[in-house]
Amino acid sequence: MAPYPLANLPRGVLTLAQNENPMPPSPAAVEAGRAAVTSANIYPDPDWQAMRAAIAEVHGLDAESILCGAGSMEIIDCVVRAYAGPGDTVLGTQYGYLFLSTACQRAGARHEMAPERDYKVSVDALLEAAGPDTRIVFVCNPGNPTGTALDADEMTRLREGLPACTMLVVDQAYTEYAGPEHDSLLALAERGDSVVTRTFSKAYGMAGMRVGWGVLSADAAQHVRKLLNPNNLSSVSQAMAEAAIRDQEHMRRAVAETVAARDRFVSRLEAAGYVPPKSSTNFVLVPFADSAAAKSVESTMREEGMHPRNMTGYGLDHCLRITVGLAYTMERTAEILEEHAESGA
Ligand SMILES: *Cc1c(COP(=O)(O)O)cnc(C)c1O
Repeated sequence: MAPYPLANLPRGVLTLAQNENPMPPSPAAVEAGRAAVTSANIYPDPDWQAMRAAIAEVHGLDAESILCGAGSMEIIDCVVRAYAGPGDTVLGTQYGYLFLSTACQRAGARHEMAPERDYKVSVDALLEAAGPDTRIVFVCNPGNPTGTALDADEMTRLREGLPACTMLVVDQAYTEYAGPEHDSLLALAERGDSVVTRTFSKAYGMAGMRVGWGVLSADAAQHVRKLLNPNNLSSVSQAMAEAAIRDQEHMRRAVAETVAARDRFVSRLEAAGYVPPKSSTNFVLVPFADSAAAKSVESTMREEGMHPRNMTGYGLDHCLRITVGLAYTMERTAEILEEHAESGA
């Protein structure tokens, strides 16, 4: 089994490679985490009751249909193991999230990919590639590493074009950056043939706490939960997540700042002649003339302590994925890219 391709990065610092939020979590979440630490001698709530109630309230969901995970990666992993095994196919997309491949290997399932068009998920290509062995169709929306989003109508068209025995998993790790119109997709889960996953790692600025959640039908949730570690989320993570989701204002402010910084960054790149796919996330995929150009920009950035993510693992070695970070980093990154464009390399 191939190891998951982690980036070669310095530890414990903010880079431009992991799509982390440059803003720390809500002060209310930090306070709740501090208070929870003092009861660390007691096991956490295995039913995540307070946290689930808060998510259910904020999103208008049935708490019984929500599963909480040590990051949404744990939910994705368990859903794959619940619905696919040897002889089954899990269909993702060409530039889809690489962790899916790891989850498939753990489940013994085959991982196939439908082509994307212009760095965008193609519903037609997915419907064409889905066959009778396809147990799961997995779409990251907005996509990582492309940043592009399908609208809710397209996603509904995909769901309706798939047989009821194919589980559709929509990974909405970046949806807060794409806007509230994508929230309507959470309702897909009620059908019983769809799962939607979310995370506290990006917009809520809590990547280090490892908290994600998924919404399924209440019946499917009951079965998938058997595969989760029964004490998967520490009491500190649960307390922080509960407080963080109740502080929507903090999250929206952080997202608005990132989106404004992203749009300024993209305008400068476009003025310099770059054509990045339209990002609905907190990162930008920047295509270069060829892989040598991408490599050269990556090494210039690294020399100055900035670490973009190279895209070799995705078959996009002419691209770099750049997380929207702190203002001075984005300023310097934009300058490096402008200088590169002027050099004509
Ligand atoms: C960051 C990310 C996640 C979130 O993973 P966590 O385990 O919740 O930190 C999920 N999917 C994609 C595509 C991501 O980029």
